[in-house]
Amino acid sequence: MNFADYPARALMDITSRPPIVFVRGEGSWLWDNEGRRYLDFIQGWAVNGLGHSPRCITEALADQSARLITASPAFYNEPSMLLAGRIVAHSVFQRVFFTNSGAEANEGAIKLARKWGSIHKDGAFEIITFDNAFHGRTLATMSASGKPAFRALFEPKVPGFPKATLNDLASVERLITDRTVAVMLEPIQGEAGVVVATDDFLRGLRELTRARGLLLIVDEIQTGVGRTGKLWGYEHAGITPDIMTLGKMLGGGVPLAALVAREEVCCFEHGDQGGTFNGNPLMTAVGSAVMDATLAPGFLDHVNAMGERITAGLRALSARHGLGEVRGRGLLIAIDLGQDIAGKVVDAARDEGLLLNAPRPNLIRLMPALNVTAEEVDAMLQITERCVQRVLAAA
Ligand SMILES: *Cc1c(COP(=O)(O)O)cnc(C)c1O
Repeated sequence: MNFADYPARALMDITSRPPIVFVRGEGSWLWDNEGRRYLDFIQGWAVNGLGHSPRCITEALADQSARLITASPAFYNEPSMLLAGRIVAHSVFQRVFFTNSGAEANEGAIKLARKWGSIHKDGAFEIITFDNAFHGRTLATMSASGKPAFRALFEPKVPGFPKATLNDLASVERLITDRTVAVMLEPIQGEAGVVVATDDFLRGLRELTRARGLLLIVDEIQTGVGRTGKLWGYEHAGITPDIMTLGKMLGGGVPLAALVAREEVCCFEHGDQGGTFNGNPLMTAVGSAVMDATLAPGFLDHVNAMGERITAGLRALSARHGLGEVRGRGLLIAIDLGQDIAGKVVDAARDEGLLLNAPRPNLIRLMPALNVTAEEVDAMLQITERCVQRVLAAA
């Protein structure tokens, strides 16, 4: 079928998409309906940690779908308990509530913090978040986000999310009042362009929130489950947050996310939180397969080795062409091109069969599968360099 034969206009037009229809994926590769192959360094937006259609996920789906797809969130089911047990066993948290998207997990975190404030802090409800943060696309999570493009949309916003500046502890301290209940942030701001919260800042934030009796919420929807080279992003700073949210990589490509919390902040009463598909066996069975693969010996060493290979390659490329900074952690990496040419580089790369993402006009972000190979990394570096060269020559 040609692109024109598809009923593309039946879909709401919510973003600009190239006229390509993907029909198959395997590892770091995608194929379109005309049989063209693409090297995928987007991976569903940092979602497919194990690449496209890994056997452990297709088997978990096949096995579980033949056994039990959904009971009811009002009953226990085996896969959800087993996955919650894995998350708890390998983190500083004791309780898990599964959701279907990252935004829904963050909504849950906001609700949990507000409930805790209503019980323990005299109704305090404000959650300090950060400029350029991204927490999702529901009304409350858009309000919590600091994305400039969200500012004018869907007014009035949900109140109670004053914005501080990342890596500036004084800017947080200035916003604390009797109404404050929590501080919420991404250990690395992904959508903002891979801006790392420094370990010192995270440690300072933990000290400050503890001293002032506030909860610390880490949105690890992009950084969790191995992306940064440790299982959770907060581990780099050695801190113990009160609440964490997960998404993206947790399901390895299927819709699965989670609100995770320390026992002492779990104050939901029956009826406060729930949802039809939450913790359904089919998705949580996949989550356990993803966790087991991520926890396998040597897996995170590979993430770090590939991260170093990409970073070294991009730094060399940057030096050769007078570009800007390369930053990130593990396999969440960005290169600043120094000029607003990222969109053109993305288009040129796609023409050459490489999928890249430009979260900002001057920035390319790489979020490959965590099991990407050295050969695939080198192929990406070669194509990227060719495309940068061509775009710079034309500019
Ligand atoms: C992707 C993302 C979200 C939103 O997750 P959805 O599953 O798209 O709702 C929230 N926070 C961060 C840090 C993200 O990267």
